[in-house]
Amino acid sequence: MTSAGRKKIVVSGMRPTGKLHLGHLLGTLRNWVALQDQYDCHFFVADWHVLTTDYEKPGKVPGFVDEMVLDWLAAGLDPERCVIFRQSELLEHAELALLFGMITPVPWLERNPTYKEQKEQLSDRDLSTYGFLGYPVLQAADILLYKADLVPVGVDQVPHVELTREIARRFNHLYGDVLPEPQALLSPTPKVPGTDGRKMSKSYGNAIWLDEEPESIQTRLGKMATDPARVRRTDPGDPELCPAFNLHKVYCTPEEIETVTAGCKSAGIGCLDCKKIMIKHVVADLAPHRERRAALAARTGYVRDVLAAGTERARAIARRTMVDVRDAMGLAG
Ligand code: SF4
Repeated sequence: MTSAGRKKIVVSGMRPTGKLHLGHLLGTLRNWVALQDQYDCHFFVADWHVLTTDYEKPGKVPGFVDEMVLDWLAAGLDPERCVIFRQSELLEHAELALLFGMITPVPWLERNPTYKEQKEQLSDRDLSTYGFLGYPVLQAADILLYKADLVPVGVDQVPHVELTREIARRFNHLYGDVLPEPQALLSPTPKVPGTDGRKMSKSYGNAIWLDEEPESIQTRLGKMATDPARVRRTDPGDPELCPAFNLHKVYCTPEEIETVTAGCKSAGIGCLDCKKIMIKHVVADLAPHRERRAALAARTGYVRDVLAAGTERARAIARRTMVDVRDAMGLAG
């Protein structure tokens, strides 16, 4: 609660890249679901953000939006308890980003570590665009439009929130006290490697999908990368060097962790048997998600209705903020 006795405002978004995987569920979605009763939460589909890197192929975005929101709802986001909306339906995001663009020094954007990293990682695309350099400005607009108090992030995203705070400070310094400086709400983000041991990602083909059938999960996690030192069944291993063990840490009981650790170090347990202990938990965890998702997908137009209602709720707030912003800057409207 704030000193004014209202629930604190939380804003967060996700790029629509299609249906979601276990990394999204454990790293983000479960946190969002836990936050929705404690705070006044706003979760948005960041579809303009997709264009900052994928501007050449925007055609798949509409289908991806539906797939992603289905997973949000199946995971437990409740449109009665939080606001779920689509960024591109609200032109206020673009207007505020434009105005922030006027006051944001380019070096602030150039020193953004994600900018440099992503440019290297996505070297197959031409990312020397104005939109890609400026995506943190759009992000600041997404957050400050709702006068967020808190932004849930993992530790690696704290610099993004800091940039939003700097933009808010600069705005307030120039035009008067209009925008609150949001705080990062640090969320636990367990390490969730994909089946090949790299970070779980759609583009690596190593993801466990939230609607994946149990047999497929069993087969694919059964082949998941392990400690490379365990070449033979008789070789002892080290769980801390085993990608699969990250999922044991999320899912297994303390007793199971103890058994696995001792068995691995003494070569008393084979990797497949070890993984089976974890796999049964993953399958049991995802079964209700898959059922809820299928039931929601069968409701024609449901996702569209959720987004339409959420967008109207968000619009009311966005409009109020833009009245304050334009007023402070002496603009029409
Ligand atoms: S026994 Fe288990 S923890 Fe050890 S390397 Fe194999 S899968 Fe990993």
